[in-house]
Amino acid sequence: MSLKLFNTLTREKEEFEPIEEGRVKFYSCGQTIYDDLHIGNARHVQNITDVGHLTDDGDQGEDKVEKRAEDLGMEPMELVEDQIERYFEDTKAINVERQDIVPRATGHINEMINYVQKIIDNGYAYEAEGNIYFDVEKFAEDYPYGEMAKKDIEQLKQEAESRVEPDEKKKNQYDFALWLNAEGTGHLMKWNAEFDNDRERIESTGYPGWHLECSVMGQKYLGEEFDIHAGGKDHIFPHHPNERAQSFAATGKGQARYWLHNEFIQIEGEKMSKSEGNFYTVRGLLNGGYSGDAIRLYLVSSHYRSETDFSKEGLEKAEKELRKARRARNWAEKVSGDALEDRAEEVEDQFKKYMDDDLDTANAKQLLMEFVSDITSTLESGEGVSIKTRNILEELFEIIGINLVADGTVEEMKLAELLAESREKFREKENYEEADRIRDELEKLGFEVEDTDDEPRLYRSK
Ligand SMILES: [Zn+2]
Repeated sequence: MSLKLFNTLTREKEEFEPIEEGRVKFYSCGQTIYDDLHIGNARHVQNITDVGHLTDDGDQGEDKVEKRAEDLGMEPMELVEDQIERYFEDTKAINVERQDIVPRATGHINEMINYVQKIIDNGYAYEAEGNIYFDVEKFAEDYPYGEMAKKDIEQLKQEAESRVEPDEKKKNQYDFALWLNAEGTGHLMKWNAEFDNDRERIESTGYPGWHLECSVMGQKYLGEEFDIHAGGKDHIFPHHPNERAQSFAATGKGQARYWLHNEFIQIEGEKMSKSEGNFYTVRGLLNGGYSGDAIRLYLVSSHYRSETDFSKEGLEKAEKELRKARRARNWAEKVSGDALEDRAEEVEDQFKKYMDDDLDTANAKQLLMEFVSDITSTLESGEGVSIKTRNILEELFEIIGINLVADGTVEEMKLAELLAESREKFREKENYEEADRIRDELEKLGFEVEDTDDEPRLYRSK
């Protein structure tokens, strides 16, 4: 069996075939970097939007970065620098691998201006008062426009007319901005641009439309056509169709072949929203004493296309599961044996099948927890499991982003052993009060101690 992915373009699970064998070119719409990483964005990452994302989708409202910077009394770029650093700290804490390239919108303004010029040259854009708009009607004569959203053009037209406050400069309300003139708007982040249409030269000091950066940076770094483009479900319209339309209009190629969209995270049954106050950030949870690994384990417990209901109880359960898995792995290391090898192979096969099925981490993780239980009861019965079995357990957890061999330093381990030994001495003297105190200290250090008939066993619990 090979990997199948659910492609939003066709609404079907399709066999994944990369353009170039052995290489996957993947672009993911990252976050607009004006605040800490919220858990809803914690499953995928890529570009960094540091300009042009307005508070309103209809090309109106304020720039999100500028607005937040103003609230905090900072320069926009000061906020961006600060947030980028925090962003990488947060994603690292939940074991998101660092992307190969993390392009920033503000670093690609020249390319964006050139790209807009190409769209104008190809006849799919027009100018009005220094703004450049994408001409949806013209585009839809030559290319599909609403297919990703499964909406026909008439429907989109009506929706746009009812959704946004009419912008008199647009030919049609579903047209969207490629470039916005900043004159008289108070925008801080703006650049001088020049465009040519058939008749004249247009000078406009302004900033790019939000959708533009992804078309430009995706094709710049991955080629005109690449494999996967991912993002949140909210991008099914308008962000991704607009991005794709711009790419067709400029290059004749529609960017990615597979479009993946993840569902949102709900908080105790409701949509996560800052204004409602039910909003969790990764940083907030880490500061609250939850481990990055547990947050990760919790997030992969549901499929990326299904709604995750996030709660503190759920996260605590994930902490327990993580502890159980680490305990089994560390215990297995201490007891030699050859049990469960067939079971391990069976688990490995089944795990691959789940992951091949549109990255079904929910079932894959469930399977791993069952495997952990098998290992634990085997060890409890006094039998040891083989090294191969232990390796398979570690490797499969690694694939879902969980390191079972929690990394602690050798010094930490030595200190813990020393503490455990002295605790043993207090126990022998029946000074249980002191023994319990040391147990608590060990727990704070991230170790769990289990008393057995012979010597006590130490486990990493964090
Ligand atoms: Zn994007």
